[in-house]
Amino acid sequence: MTQRPRAVTVLGATGSIGSSTLDVIARHPDRYRVHALTAHRSRETLLAQCRVHAPALAVLDHEEDAAWLRERLRQAGLATEVRAGAEALVEVSEAPEVEVVMAAIVGAAGLLPTLAAVRAGKRVLLANKEALVMSGALFMDAVGRAGATLLPIDSEHNAIYQCLPVEHRGGLARHGVTQLLLTASGGPFRGWSPRALAEVTPEQACAHPNWSMGRKISVDSATLMNKGLELIEACWLFDARPDQIQVVVHPQSVIHSMAAYSDGSVLAQLGNPDMRTPIAYGLAWPERIEAGVEALDLFAVSRLDFEAPDEAAFPCLRLAREAMADGGTAPAVLNAANEVAVAAFLDGTLGFAGIPELVARVRERCPVEPAGELEGILAADARARREAREWLSRR
Ligand code: NAD
Ligand code: MG
Repeated sequence: MTQRPRAVTVLGATGSIGSSTLDVIARHPDRYRVHALTAHRSRETLLAQCRVHAPALAVLDHEEDAAWLRERLRQAGLATEVRAGAEALVEVSEAPEVEVVMAAIVGAAGLLPTLAAVRAGKRVLLANKEALVMSGALFMDAVGRAGATLLPIDSEHNAIYQCLPVEHRGGLARHGVTQLLLTASGGPFRGWSPRALAEVTPEQACAHPNWSMGRKISVDSATLMNKGLELIEACWLFDARPDQIQVVVHPQSVIHSMAAYSDGSVLAQLGNPDMRTPIAYGLAWPERIEAGVEALDLFAVSRLDFEAPDEAAFPCLRLAREAMADGGTAPAVLNAANEVAVAAFLDGTLGFAGIPELVARVRERCPVEPAGELEGILAADARARREAREWLSRR
């Protein structure tokens, strides 16, 4: 088979998902070539990636970092053009020569470039769940209008996608699906008492038992806010109501999620916890390609356990469910407050139990507005961040 390699932009290339994406791409030079790589501040990593993948463009947030990278690339004799700032992120997401965009920036910073890729009708590999949580209705509407191909990379949503019929729009019931079973590892503090939880450190929170991930999502996994964000993400991706989604704690992280059907069938997707599986799935869909992931050894796994989440010890899951039920800008407010809370926890100015407390306080202070326009969503995000910082400074 001869085919032209597809041009890929990797937003957030230097992160955990970004580097796993480049690992998969490097295994298939006949299928993919890198058009652009972007990073926030990690210029050294971006330089190393540019040396390997020779993208046409590289983007950093600050001009100072861009100038540094430009000079190093020139010395190395590489023709990569270096740009700086948020506008450049949008440009490399919607450029006509780009076919695939991996959206792997963490947090709200990923919203505009991800939406730009969607509006340009690209194949969008969505890791940046915060973008969808913030702008769900608008985002899914843009997917439909632009005819973008949206492939979920979050392992749970990728699993559900694999367990649903190819055409699954229009509500789950139409396709005989009765429930989505969203699995959760339970994070590093599963089974801990609220007293023990009050003392946990950022290092403990970032040491996830099964997955190696960026620091923000690691903390979200520890508070179960990650599962809350994923519940909202699943509602939008699969036209599901929150009551059609059951969170199932499954500590081994071998089943990545399931779909239950009206005839009693439950379809599950299994695999080792390695993000290269969903990434390779998204890149190659509807084909399958080698991802560098070890084959699952069920005898080594030996058992699969399931339990209900402890929502009393981990209130973030309930907070997310309530935000989805309130609708409008409520999920954007929840997300923004959580981003500020996680950053404060990571820099040592907020305790672990303070994360849900801060999110709940900010939600009380921010009225729920309709979320039909991007401006309103961004305004709600900004207000929630202000309220969160104010609450932190007043304590
Ligand atoms: P990470 O922190 O390892 O990487 C984040 C990337 O985004 C880096 O390249 C960083 O430079 C860039 N970035 C950060 N802030 C930015 C900003 N303000 N502007 C532009 N770029 C910025 O994070 P990660 O673990 O790779 O996660 C990325 C996204 O994927 C998150 O939304 C996360 O929830 C989602 N996700 C991650 C995993 C995982 O296993 N790591 C699994 C599922 C979903
Ligand atoms: Mg996940």
